[in-house]
Amino acid sequence: MVASMAEREATDVVVLGAGIVGVSAAYAARQHGLSVVLVDRREPGSETSYGNAGVLSSGSIFPFNKPSLFSALPRYVSNRHAALRWDPLWAARNLGWLVRFLANATPSHVRPRAMALHGLIGASLKLHRDWIVRAGAAARLRETGWLKAWRSDGLTAATAEQALLAKYGIQSDVLDRQAVSALEPNIVPLYKAGLLHTQTASVDSPGAVTKAYARMFAGSGGELVRSEITVIAPESDGWRVVLASGVIAARHVVVALGPWSADLLRPLGYRVPLAFERGYHQEFRPNAALPLHRPIHDAEGSFVMTPMENGIRVSSGVELTARDAPSCLAQLEAVVPLARGVAEFGDSVGEAWRGARPTLPDSLPMIGRAPRHRGLWLAFGHQHIGFTTAPATGAAIAAMIKGQSPSFDVAAFSPGRYL
Ligand SMILES: Cc1cc2nc3c(=O)[nH]c(=O)nc-3n(C[C@H](O)[C@H](O)[C@H](O)COP(=O)(O)OP(=O)(O)OC[C@H]3O[C@@H](n4cnc5c(N)ncnc54)[C@H](O)[C@@H]3O)c2cc1C
Repeated sequence: MVASMAEREATDVVVLGAGIVGVSAAYAARQHGLSVVLVDRREPGSETSYGNAGVLSSGSIFPFNKPSLFSALPRYVSNRHAALRWDPLWAARNLGWLVRFLANATPSHVRPRAMALHGLIGASLKLHRDWIVRAGAAARLRETGWLKAWRSDGLTAATAEQALLAKYGIQSDVLDRQAVSALEPNIVPLYKAGLLHTQTASVDSPGAVTKAYARMFAGSGGELVRSEITVIAPESDGWRVVLASGVIAARHVVVALGPWSADLLRPLGYRVPLAFERGYHQEFRPNAALPLHRPIHDAEGSFVMTPMENGIRVSSGVELTARDAPSCLAQLEAVVPLARGVAEFGDSVGEAWRGARPTLPDSLPMIGRAPRHRGLWLAFGHQHIGFTTAPATGAAIAAMIKGQSPSFDVAAFSPGRYL
């Protein structure tokens, strides 16, 4: 870490934010031989990239705003459902965002977005599987898939979902009750059907993996700076990044500030339509005699349960509200008893955690150059799948900085679609 940034030469790239997206962009830029400084006010991987469910998901190509959202809306109107809660005041103030979000849920928007995300996810999973080994963190990776499970007679739903995923070449296995029990012998056999995403992996600590990638970045000659970032300003030949601890001059700036990304862009004239699908988790002491082997998504219970390094992590659904509104633990409190009915685990470990999934109206991230500024690159808005999609996001940004084409089609992620 550098204490004072007052006097220093211009660097090629400054990456703002050391979540999984920023760390990935920084490492990828180093791989291209660029000089890189990565700045965050906290240790790498301490925010959203710490608290997620740790799923490296091959099949998350249909975002939350998909056609089935319309049939679910009546269940959500009462504002008591574990899958989605919303703040009416926030909704009134952000009606425009909501309308655009829902407009993207119509059937004609399914395929283009699924194709775009499929390309991003495919490229990213390849990199994760490579980087996690290089970072010395391979022991954290589990190639055991991800199980979506239904309490009701879900075989029809599972089969339909399998067929839909197969159209994009994504493999999965439909399971009946016995097959679910054979796969996860230590859970209560209450799931009547399951869909095992066989090409999906998971990690036992997303925060630790992000930190391992950050160490790999530092080991490759990158520089990590811990400081609050207050301003980014264009200069004649690049950028001035103002930190609480000094100033960095750079030819390129990458904004990878997750849910905080819009804040520093506003003074530059960009009004980013970023909203926050907040979510919570609580970890519980595991029963060592009855381990879980993979993350389980309870389709009707609306939670994900992941075996993590520190215990069983139970993650809740979506809360649509202001990023910094006070926590409301109602969704978490609703799902924890359901999770306890599935797996045996002990007391809670630590406090409940809250994070904000940064989401644009079409649920696609921004990956590319800001339309009105040279050398300003945007890499945020990865909603529910940022941990999965960060490496390819970072690699694409690094390639574009070098004037090269990314390994997948980034057209759908162009910042210009909103800015
Ligand atoms: C409950 C939940 C479950 C999830 N499960 C999954 C999952 O299983 N799989 C998956 O792929 N994704 C999952 N996600 C989504 C994923 O966690 C996010 O998309 C991803 O972590 C976003 O990463 P990021 O790097 O963009 O943001 P962050 O990790 O939030 O990083 C942003 C960084 O910017 C820094 N920062 C912000 N402002 C400033 C400033 N002014 N000065 C200095 N530093 C600043 C912050 O300190 C932070 O470190 C989940 C999210 C939630 C909330």
